[in-house]
Amino acid sequence: MNHVYALSAYTRQKFGQRVQKIPLDAGFSCPNRDGTISKTGCIFCNPNGSGSGFGIKGMTLPEQWQFWRDIHTKKHNLSLFTAYLQSYSNTHGPIEKLSDTLAQLHGLEGLTSLSLGTRPDCLDEAKLDLLAAQRDALGLHEITLELGLQSASNETLAHINRGHDANAMAEATTMAAERGINVVAHIIIGLPTPTGREGEAELLNSVDFINQLPIHGVKFHNLYVCRGTILADLHANNEYTPMTKPEFLDLLSTALMHLKPTTVIHRLNGNPLKDELIAPDWAANMRGLHNDIRAHFKANDIWQGKNNGAESGPPDWFSPGYQGATP
Ligand code: SF4
Repeated sequence: MNHVYALSAYTRQKFGQRVQKIPLDAGFSCPNRDGTISKTGCIFCNPNGSGSGFGIKGMTLPEQWQFWRDIHTKKHNLSLFTAYLQSYSNTHGPIEKLSDTLAQLHGLEGLTSLSLGTRPDCLDEAKLDLLAAQRDALGLHEITLELGLQSASNETLAHINRGHDANAMAEATTMAAERGINVVAHIIIGLPTPTGREGEAELLNSVDFINQLPIHGVKFHNLYVCRGTILADLHANNEYTPMTKPEFLDLLSTALMHLKPTTVIHRLNGNPLKDELIAPDWAANMRGLHNDIRAHFKANDIWQGKNNGAESGPPDWFSPGYQGATP
């Protein structure tokens, strides 16, 4: 049984085959780290950031593309690829930087779609217009913005030093959707609050929030504590207690059952680097956690949208082989 509308199913239905993401590091920064908003960052953020680090090593975007494309072509015989601008906030700064970055994508072999990780407060009409125009210029089938919402609670967002409120997400999502640009929302399960940790009520509030926006997909993350973060200090002072695995499985299940069944699931859990993880231990074993999630869904009859439009069972489009119209 397919319990969720997974990205792999969506991709196969839309493109007829797997589309491999290629991570690209374009050397962007983050306003919550470079001093535009703050220098400390979100309290869970590892200052090493995410991504390959190839940009720091001086590799151009076409060189990074070639490196990964060669691997995937030889290993898996793949031909369709998504350029994934992953590290930090890839629409932060002057529009010329974004324009220069997009110009480097012209002519990349196999380029099918573009994904950009960024913050909702790093987007405006001009940048979105530029992205929409480049979709046609680059011959892309789709552009996706991965936007960190994390929580729809402004109290939580202030507590984690996010530097924007939930309304910024609503505005950015609406502006993107008006231009046919997909938005994938990131939600973190288990965030600290001034009085403890977000639980079911706060998580359902976040799911309700994105259910009401033109959101295309979601990435769920379980919060874990990494070295070099403010959260690590809170944890060391017994001011933050990570979720147990059963707590996470229950919260994730509740969120999924309330999520619209047409929202594409890009991830169900985070993937910490082993030498940077402090707690909880169970977060280190991503494959094991994946298996535990599947087993939990199966044992408890959990599927996406069970409490929100798909009460009678998982819809047909959860299957990668579904031939009907994409929902
Ligand atoms: S927005 Fe992202 S990169 Fe910036 S501080 Fe927060 S988690 Fe780190």
